[in-house]
Amino acid sequence: MTEQNPGQLGEFDLIREIARRVRADGRAPLGIGDDCAVLKAPRDADVLVTTDMLMDGRHFLLEEVGPAAVGYKALAVNLSDIAAMAGRPIAAFVAVALPRDQAVSVAHGLMDGMLPLAERFDVVLAGGDTNAWDGPLVVSVTVIGETAPPGPIRRAGAEVGDFIYVTGPLGGSLLGRHMRPTPRIEEALALHQTVRLKAMIDLSDGLSSDLRHVLKASGDLGACLDATRAPIHDDARVLSDRDGRSVLQHAFDDGEDFELCFVVSPEDGGRLESAPPKGTSVFRVGTIEAQPGLRLRVPDGTITPLGPSGFDHLKSRGP
Ligand code: ADP
Ligand code: MG
Repeated sequence: MTEQNPGQLGEFDLIREIARRVRADGRAPLGIGDDCAVLKAPRDADVLVTTDMLMDGRHFLLEEVGPAAVGYKALAVNLSDIAAMAGRPIAAFVAVALPRDQAVSVAHGLMDGMLPLAERFDVVLAGGDTNAWDGPLVVSVTVIGETAPPGPIRRAGAEVGDFIYVTGPLGGSLLGRHMRPTPRIEEALALHQTVRLKAMIDLSDGLSSDLRHVLKASGDLGACLDATRAPIHDDARVLSDRDGRSVLQHAFDDGEDFELCFVVSPEDGGRLESAPPKGTSVFRVGTIEAQPGLRLRVPDGTITPLGPSGFDHLKSRGP
């Protein structure tokens, strides 16, 4: 099949080439190539399903980052959602609309980024759908996972007085980190085994936005964030020097950190702070309060309201 002419036959050749790159895995015993994938049903667990679609010109610029970075990210953001439920990923399904004039190289480039990540997190690529068209690259990944005992962690469940944590420094991801997030699967499972996680979400839109989802789901609660405790990423400082927005604004409002934000009782929080699970960082960023809305405690002790200023997909225009 020529790069210029990926017709029907080309599509099947391409799928066969992709299938050849995927290792056999007992959890999807038929492998790629039948009408459906067959997955072994998890024992004593529920099934988690998540989907995310990335579009050239909206979520990434293919010409700037290349297809491998897109493949990596398309899988990573789905794994981040599985992590946010404290689950284990099992299988991934990849549906692509490939730009016709470079369909084969883009398809393989996507796999170059995706397969090592799948390997690292023990996810089997079990199927997908391949199309070529005259439009830009669109990649939709679906990940199937399983819950880990004692069960999935939801956005709902925070209570007044609970402590709020994140798993890593925040802000400035648009300098490049946004294309290569580390899914916090292992961290979530370790935390799940160590304390009673009451609510959790992954940070895709920014702490100020995503925490609001937790507060809303938990019955219209509020939170006070502590400016002196916020873990600020070096990228946030670099961006702040460049654009004049404060480092805190970057830490709280920038999207795509893909760290976890979770809520635990103060007792469990204390336990985590004195002995975090191996390989897991925890940073306390605030406290759940009864009064709805977000507030910020600044170093002199003053408390100011935080407006709804997180990255908003409906307002923003592109990468
Ligand atoms: P159908 O038309 O019955 O959906 P397809 O020709 O679309 O069959 O797909 C054939 C097989 O190849 C299926 O097992 C499907 O899951 C798999 N597949 C297609 N595209 C991809 C892809 N991009 N990555 C992984 N598997 C794929
Ligand atoms: Mg199909």
